Amino acid sequence: MNGFRALLVEKDESGYRASEKTLDDSALMEGDVTVRVTHSTVNYKDGLAITGKAPVVRKFPMIPGIDLAGVVETSDSPDYKPGDAVIVTGCGLGEVHNGAYAGKARLKSEWLVPLPKALSAAHAMAIGTAGFTAMQCVIALERHGRKPADGPVVVTGAAGGVGSVAIAILAKLGWHVIASTGRPTEADYLKDLGAAEILDRAELAGPGKSLAKERFAAGVDTVGSTTLANVLSMTKWGGAVAACGLAGGMDLPTSVAPFILRNVALLGVDSVGCPRELRLEIWRRLALDLDMAKLDAMTTAIGFDQIIPTAQAILEGKVKGRVVVTIDWGAANLNLAEVGAPREAWSTR
Ligand code: NDP
Repeated sequence: MNGFRALLVEKDESGYRASEKTLDDSALMEGDVTVRVTHSTVNYKDGLAITGKAPVVRKFPMIPGIDLAGVVETSDSPDYKPGDAVIVTGCGLGEVHNGAYAGKARLKSEWLVPLPKALSAAHAMAIGTAGFTAMQCVIALERHGRKPADGPVVVTGAAGGVGSVAIAILAKLGWHVIASTGRPTEADYLKDLGAAEILDRAELAGPGKSLAKERFAAGVDTVGSTTLANVLSMTKWGGAVAACGLAGGMDLPTSVAPFILRNVALLGVDSVGCPRELRLEIWRRLALDLDMAKLDAMTTAIGFDQIIPTAQAILEGKVKGRVVVTIDWGAANLNLAEVGAPREAWSTR
């Protein structure tokens, strides 16, 4: 492959823009492994990077896309050889190092994770950073000692990517899941994923009290701002909330009351800098504790041409669940049935 298809984000006197280009190997950045990218996804952060709505991209020009799956083409690392199926999530891809929306990427081998045997590349990208972070939140709650017998867990931003995966995992682990959403029309979707109750997100949206009626033993929050403040105020004594997102805002208008009067813990979750040992543990748990049929049910498959409109839609809260992108040069749109296709089916394409 000489030229390869790529999205490029540029910022100059003409403004901030993302457009499709044909690049060659001179565009590849430093690294010891070159990967033919087969699949990617569109996360909320990709939406921010492509539209320029937040300063995700820190070097220009930049190929955006924070998650990729593919096959090693060449390797100077003893850990990988041509033909190995690998994935990368986060690690600065699409921010400071050229990312996923290109036919090829040169990467540092320490960022790579071997594709777990139980997953296809498409499934790994249907999970992506959003699903990875959902599992990281669940592990954070578990490490804090929270368990299903303690009471219900609330998931905010429920119909989004992190929320949908979190619901499926928590329900499979036996939690009573309360799904907070602004999309009541998605109640059946959320219940099919495993939600036991639906909570209108308006109930958590306004300025709340420092302490309110105790409702939740645990929480996974993707929204931040007043939503997180309200979740903290409704968390039972000794409970914990894993906070990973800011879909509703970056601020946190709360007081110390939940922490000092109810022993509530706020657990911060960052997937980008997640250490390798925990990264491998998260992928191991995803292969174990995420039902692939549920993952398929929450996933929409798109082609390369649809990355930009999907990036815009995700910021408007219009994307449900997860998205998987086929990156292969010239690939036509993938139909949803193929999302679950075994590794052999896509690797020969
Ligand atoms: P999605 O856009 O898929 O989901 C976000 C959901 O939040 C929406 O679907 C919607 O859920 C809800 N929402 C959106 N806007 C608002 C609002 N103004 N007020 C209340 N709720 C709102 O994004 P992801 O799931 O991919 O990511 C969720 C958040 O987590 C983002 O902020 C993202 O940046 C962050 N994130 C952080 C990571 C980390 O490492 N810390 C990693 C991955 C994601 P509904 O329609 O159900 O109400």
